[in-house]
Amino acid sequence: MFDTSGGKKTLVIGAMGQIGQELLEALYLQKGTEAVIAADIRAPKTPLEGKFAELNVMERDALIDLIKSHEVGEVYNLAAILSAKGEQHPELAWDLNMTGLLNCLEAARQTGLEKVFWPSSIAVFGPSSPQAHTPQYCSMDPNTVYGISKLAGERWCEYYAARYGVDVRSLRYPGLISYKAAPGGGTTDYAVDIFHQALQHGRYTSFLDAHSRLPMLYMKDALQATIQLMSVPRERLRIRSSYNLNGLSFTPAELTQAIQVFMPALEVSYAPDFRQHIANSWPDSIDDRYAREDWGWRPSYSLEEMTREMLGNLAPTYGVNLMTEKAGTS
Ligand code: NAD
Repeated sequence: MFDTSGGKKTLVIGAMGQIGQELLEALYLQKGTEAVIAADIRAPKTPLEGKFAELNVMERDALIDLIKSHEVGEVYNLAAILSAKGEQHPELAWDLNMTGLLNCLEAARQTGLEKVFWPSSIAVFGPSSPQAHTPQYCSMDPNTVYGISKLAGERWCEYYAARYGVDVRSLRYPGLISYKAAPGGGTTDYAVDIFHQALQHGRYTSFLDAHSRLPMLYMKDALQATIQLMSVPRERLRIRSSYNLNGLSFTPAELTQAIQVFMPALEVSYAPDFRQHIANSWPDSIDDRYAREDWGWRPSYSLEEMTREMLGNLAPTYGVNLMTEKAGTS
């Protein structure tokens, strides 16, 4: 049975991005195609199953009009400029990441939205944060514009929840790995690129060094966490800034080994660039006890399972015949 949130619609802003494209599919299944509106500043490349609206999240009046005219009850705001791209366009990143969020929070307050989802990131942590099992509450001194915007955004979420009762929910996503949509300019993008390059060319040059350990999550787990968080009764949520979320934690060398199980000839070299500096300031792994306790978060995918699924799904695109008994599709 579809959850149609009392007949109100669900609006996904930034729906054409890496997460948005897959979140749409998950929401179509959960709520029914008719109940979901995809919005983005860029039009879809191929027609969507459900409705699409062209929207610039920077335009508050247009956003409020869309919410009112389509009787929207829930908004997922995914429009942002990510870490690596943000360092190339700092002012643009600050403008979009802040104004976009504030417009959604303000629209929620003014129109009485039932719920808002907005993702934060592990980029909120910085060099003085503990690197291993980084706790929910600790020293946070992000040194990228992206991280600064996410930390400020978290404070705004908590403020709107406390002051205006806006039911805003958030996760600190780690690097997300998926085979369906290309990543949008983050520091963890290597963990997606490597699969494509391995299958296409049999070799890969990593822009992070071999031993840069970072928190990561397979997209299916990220979607599961997002939908679970949005489904839980509000009184169960203790955190209105953003929940720590842990899944996997690995280095480029460890990911290479996991892929070499299926593609032993894969050659990987290392040429760290400016993204190494960003990675150095981020945690190795995350302590997500609040997510586990408050809404029962448990990731499903191991590094091996994720690697198997990534290769199994991407190999046919590149006409590669992997050892089929090892790589599986889903
Ligand atoms: P993405 O860059 O792939 O997608 C962002 C989408 O927003 C794009 O489709 C873009 O066209 C759209 N957009 C940009 N400006 C817009 C505007 N003014 N109005 C409307 N739409 C606009 O990003 P993503 O990877 O899907 O990330 C989504 C969210 O998740 C972001 O908030 C990001 O910070 C967060 N996040 C992502 C990751 C990750 O690994 N992908 C990790 C941590 C946090």
